[in-house]
Amino acid sequence: MNSKRTRNTEKQKLVKEILSTVEHTMSADDILAAMPIKVNKTTIYRILDRFIEKGDVHFVTGKNGKTYYALCNDGCGHSHKMHNHIHFECQECEEVTCLPNTIAIPNLPGFTPIETQFLVIGICNKCKK
Ligand SMILES: [Zn+2]
Ligand SMILES: [Zn+2]
Ligand SMILES: [Zn+2]
Repeated sequence: MNSKRTRNTEKQKLVKEILSTVEHTMSADDILAAMPIKVNKTTIYRILDRFIEKGDVHFVTGKNGKTYYALCNDGCGHSHKMHNHIHFECQECEEVTCLPNTIAIPNLPGFTPIETQFLVIGICNKCKK
């Protein structure tokens, strides 16, 4: 029995559980803060990288340059790199949310898109007065 592997599997499971409990995306710091066991940030990044490779998780870069992660779902498309749904960043609460609304990726003659991120900045429903 490889105890190191067991621990890693447990951590991976926890990261997925944490991401599945929130409606919005989370930064690595948010995930770290929500972890019930002590984990270092490098481990969190490694787990997230693996999930991204597998197509379980995708990310978007927020206005502040921070990376926000979310679980992938059926609406993600098959490549898991060309996500065309909109991410909404609220400038009040700074939450970044995956929205079901999509943008068609245009044909770009001579240019080959590999990855896409769509970010809209504004005020979310909760912060609207
Ligand atoms: Zn995806
Ligand atoms: Zn808000
Ligand atoms: Zn998303």
